[in-house]
Amino acid sequence: MKSTDVVVIGGGVIGCSAAYHLAKRGVDVILVEKDDIASGTSGACDKAVLLQSKNPGLHLKMALESIKLFPEIQKDLDTDIEFKNNGGMIVIKTEEQWQVMKGFVQRQKKAGLKVELLGRDHALQRQPAFSRDILGATYSPMDGEVNPINLTLGFFRGAKKYGAKSMLSTEVKGIRVEKGRVSSVLTTGGEILTRFVVNACGVYAPVVGRMVGIDIPIIPRRGQIIVSEPVPPIIHGDVNCARYITAKFKPELLGDDEYARLGIGLSLGQTENGNLLIGGTREFVGYDKRTTHRALRAILKHAASLVPVLKDVSIIRSFAGLRPYTPDGLPILGEVENLRGFIMSAGHEGDGIALSAITGKIISEIIVDGRTSLNIDMEKLSLSRFKKEDVYGFRESHNCYGNAV
Ligand SMILES: Cc1cc2nc3c(=O)[nH]c(=O)nc-3n(C[C@H](O)[C@H](O)[C@H](O)COP(=O)(O)OP(=O)(O)OC[C@H]3O[C@@H](n4cnc5c(N)ncnc54)[C@H](O)[C@@H]3O)c2cc1C
Repeated sequence: MKSTDVVVIGGGVIGCSAAYHLAKRGVDVILVEKDDIASGTSGACDKAVLLQSKNPGLHLKMALESIKLFPEIQKDLDTDIEFKNNGGMIVIKTEEQWQVMKGFVQRQKKAGLKVELLGRDHALQRQPAFSRDILGATYSPMDGEVNPINLTLGFFRGAKKYGAKSMLSTEVKGIRVEKGRVSSVLTTGGEILTRFVVNACGVYAPVVGRMVGIDIPIIPRRGQIIVSEPVPPIIHGDVNCARYITAKFKPELLGDDEYARLGIGLSLGQTENGNLLIGGTREFVGYDKRTTHRALRAILKHAASLVPVLKDVSIIRSFAGLRPYTPDGLPILGEVENLRGFIMSAGHEGDGIALSAITGKIISEIIVDGRTSLNIDMEKLSLSRFKKEDVYGFRESHNCYGNAV
């Protein structure tokens, strides 16, 4: 029988970052992944390390800490993660959006983000492809981007370089708990004795939670993305629209038309190869990862209204991924109350790529030092911040596939 200090369950960006940070500190780790590295949400997403899309407060604070780590991680990994600190923008179309973004920007500035509101002409100087019908945009030079698949693979290879072991195509089926402490993990490849388990299973974290009798309020929130043929540089840095911010935090304000039902909001970026990634949606449709004709049409129509040149690019494919959504938009991190050794690391919604670096660091510190060196209130990230009634209420208002009922 195998034995290790820590079993990390899940080979997405969050599990691989945790394994990397733990192995780097000399901890014995086995990473168990039911399919392959980056086969889940981390391989079906955008590439933004966007600070502007984070709520000022704990969310933005974590993102600011995370982005600081990327240059060092880039140097340490043997994989090119294509990290760039090249700024990001949020396009504003209406007066109402301008007022909302003005308040958002003021709160972000107070929280330490360099960000400004630009009128139309200044916005067009930065992004000549924007429509002349826009009112303006926000701009932050601190936003960045990274290749999410290379990042996940990079963390995985980095973990192995520091001695971590892995079991791919191996599913965790059960977890043994003795006297309130995790003692082993049961997998399709045999049992592993361990004192710590990291649940980094993204949208499947609740399934692993049920193995130890806990309810985890994470549900899938689908995002659909369109990929264009490679084209010369059109977009500089990552771009969202003000609707995207509303769809993320306050979908109820979008009204109830088709765009609102699909949670349409622009996310636009260009890969190093020149492909445009044009998104996206925010939909509660359970674990359904298919793209839909209706959503793809709506995404393109909305995107072309803000960036008209998109009407002339050829589309080569589309895909969808499942964001691990939590009711308050923050991930669930840290040891679960009354379940020693069971560490949560999931629920990053649309921010897991950006927050991966800091999350892995926090998880490694909790396991090695018993606390994090960051000045953050871990209670606000704990599973126990959700009262039992909240979790049950949440479960009742969404059926077992995560659909709102
Ligand atoms: C359309 C879209 C766009 C996005 N854009 C961005 C962006 O621009 N920037 C950003 O920061 N974030 C973005 N995100 C969010 C980001 O992709 C996620 O937050 C992140 O990938 C979650 O990573 P994870 O490791 O928690 O989950 P996953 O990548 O899903 O990894 C979980 C892994 O656990 C494995 N697993 C599950 N159950 C078991 C089991 N029982 N045994 C073994 N293995 C198991 C799964 O196979 C999977 O590989 C986007 C998401 C979507 C859908």
